[in-house]
Amino acid sequence: MKKKSKGICTIYRGIPASPGVVIGKVFLLNRESIEVVEEKIPENEVSKEILKFKKAINDTKEELLKTREKVAKQIDPDHAKIFDAQIMILEDELISNAVIEKIKQSHSNAEFVYRKVIEETVKALSATKDEYLKERILDIHAVENRLIYNLLGIKHLTVESINLPVILVARSLSPADVVHMKKGSILGFAADLGGRTSHVAILAKSMGIPAVVGLKNFFDQVTDKQSIILDGLKGEMVVCPDEETLVEYEKRRKFILKKTEELSELKSLPAVTLDGRKIELSANIEFPTDTAYALEYGAEGIGLFRTEYLYITHAGFPTEEEQHQVYQEVMEKVHPKSVILRTFDLGGDKFGHHDGSLVEANPFLGWRAIRASLDLPDMFKIQLRAMLKASAKKSIKIMFPMISEIEELKKAKAILNEAKEELKRKKIPYDEKIPVGIMVEIPSAALAADILAKECDFFSIGTNDLIQYTLAVDRGNEKIAHLYQSFHPAVLRLIKETVDAGHRNGIWVGLCGEMAADPLATTLFVGMGMDELSTSAMAIPEIKKIIRSISFEDAKKHASEVLKLTTIDEIKRFLIEDYARRFGKENKG
Ligand code: PEP
Ligand code: MG
Repeated sequence: MKKKSKGICTIYRGIPASPGVVIGKVFLLNRESIEVVEEKIPENEVSKEILKFKKAINDTKEELLKTREKVAKQIDPDHAKIFDAQIMILEDELISNAVIEKIKQSHSNAEFVYRKVIEETVKALSATKDEYLKERILDIHAVENRLIYNLLGIKHLTVESINLPVILVARSLSPADVVHMKKGSILGFAADLGGRTSHVAILAKSMGIPAVVGLKNFFDQVTDKQSIILDGLKGEMVVCPDEETLVEYEKRRKFILKKTEELSELKSLPAVTLDGRKIELSANIEFPTDTAYALEYGAEGIGLFRTEYLYITHAGFPTEEEQHQVYQEVMEKVHPKSVILRTFDLGGDKFGHHDGSLVEANPFLGWRAIRASLDLPDMFKIQLRAMLKASAKKSIKIMFPMISEIEELKKAKAILNEAKEELKRKKIPYDEKIPVGIMVEIPSAALAADILAKECDFFSIGTNDLIQYTLAVDRGNEKIAHLYQSFHPAVLRLIKETVDAGHRNGIWVGLCGEMAADPLATTLFVGMGMDELSTSAMAIPEIKKIIRSISFEDAKKHASEVLKLTTIDEIKRFLIEDYARRFGKENKG
């Protein structure tokens, strides 16, 4: 985090995660748990203490059910399912019986005993270093805090219970926290941890909540209710702004809003260059409810549905019918345009593995995405059948994540064929020629793209991962965020090679990583011959405007110039100057 003083205000720089300028008061999300001290209970009050504990469980359950209902009504029924997992933890008999036994034996107060039992449970889970279980640990602590607050009779605060318009400041946030943010209440959020393409950042963008992440130790620099400005485009936090700065940012906020309004006029126009080259401009979505938002911003289809988010909002894997309903719902909204359903990309920073059996030192290099799906063919086939069932109107395409070599793709297709056969036997209609594509997001796939292209119908380049795997830089680690460089010549070459290999083999090539939303890269991608760009909904109008104001012939020359450059700095400078020349400086951030 860089710090700079300006008048009486201090500017902190982090990583821009989701655009928009908001001005408001700090709300510190203090996750440090409340202190609990041991108190001895007289023998004749032990049963009263146990009753107090049982009542706190009931009160907590009621709270969780209420929040569940509220989230289901106000946000999305799918998002509400996360509370099922928390209720299961709350009602875990191993935990509650251990607490009751210990109260009886030690004559200690319920909150003290409960915390001890939770500490032991978490210790046992943490020892596994398992990503999935780590996700559950967050849930366990969430339940623990609620229950202890109830035992102590203190009002509990969680992300979803914040009702004032505030700017949330936290040390770290999980994708589950972001899912629970209410738009009118959380104006924006800032977190000390996280990178530009971390899933917290991706979610913030998809939900239209301005955010800055990777602020390192910002949490310790601010206090509750301080006035603050969050600039999600520049990645800046301005603390205690003076009058002059407030006026300046208010102007900037209005400028960005005006620009968004102007751009919305492009909604129904195609993304076509001046000389007639059409680029498919689609949206990435994480939740079915994002679909309407995507169409509102002029998406010509869904270029990436990250289906694994069904898993975060669900206790365990969703059933075939639950999945089918979701895929069908999204398809119906988008039809006759198309929806690319990506099979689960679990692992990495996304909610670990479901059976908790594996300890991984490097989850991003581990049992992730297609690797997990191929290892769990029953689960995989359930998902594929659910996807196929939604495909009868021919609007669905299936995409496999993290393909690294041809055999993997062949195995995935063989399971897809089995799923098709099963549906055929049951006379359930589906698209027999359903297009199958892969994410090109591992350097080996980009380098072997000509081999892979012969076995699939399309490529979608996942630059978020392609960059991290090419440059060996963890996409979510704020400490090395400066090394995560989209415009590294090696990354650009891999992208270009992939486009060319796809075209040589007669398939279309798109790009669905966060780079698709970077206006600096649009002319370059058009010039490389990209057929489709899929991005967060709110970026679509700006990218469309650029496409509509350039010519393909000129973009090709631009791309060949860029590909000749040898350093990241040279490439960035070239792109910034070119952008300023074409569109004027004031338009960029
Ligand atoms: C990518 O890696 O670029 C991508 C789009 O997938 P995800 O961000 O879900 O890993
Ligand atoms: Mg990826």
